[in-house]
Amino acid sequence: MAQHFLLSSAARSLSLKEIYKAGEDAAYKAFCDIRWASTDGDAVCPRCGGCDAYTITTRRKFKCRACHHQFSVTSGTIFAFRKLDFVDLLAAICLFVSNSKGMSAVQFSRTLSVQYKTAWVLAHKLREALSAEIDGAELDGEVEIDGAYFGGHIRPENEKSDRKDRRLK
Ligand SMILES: [Zn+2]
Repeated sequence: MAQHFLLSSAARSLSLKEIYKAGEDAAYKAFCDIRWASTDGDAVCPRCGGCDAYTITTRRKFKCRACHHQFSVTSGTIFAFRKLDFVDLLAAICLFVSNSKGMSAVQFSRTLSVQYKTAWVLAHKLREALSAEIDGAELDGEVEIDGAYFGGHIRPENEKSDRKDRRLK
């Protein structure tokens, strides 16, 4: 696989306004174009690699003519079993890549108007995809790195046997 979409120039040109203005169908098409870039957005069966599939338009699914496998544009990706609309997923990617300081789940939840838990899972999946993509990658040339401190005090395990010792006398 080539460069990850989140790092590509196509992602940088995303704007929230344009995503919502273009609507759900356009967002769905964007996902197809990104996933199946080599076939100009035509579905490719993830099981057998066949390029000939029936389109089940009503459910936005495909059925492979060769192996009869049913799949969707998100099958086998981090967006499989998605609950959000495609516009919201695209908007989430847009927010994720354009907030250089990161995006908290609370921010996602408020901005996209989705439940905190949904936002949390989505944010984690995006981070996971990004880290999986750059895993093992080597940098060259002049490299600049920002530093940050995490954690600090590690809370000891809350063992019941220790508790009576900490009780105030
Ligand atoms: Zn197939």
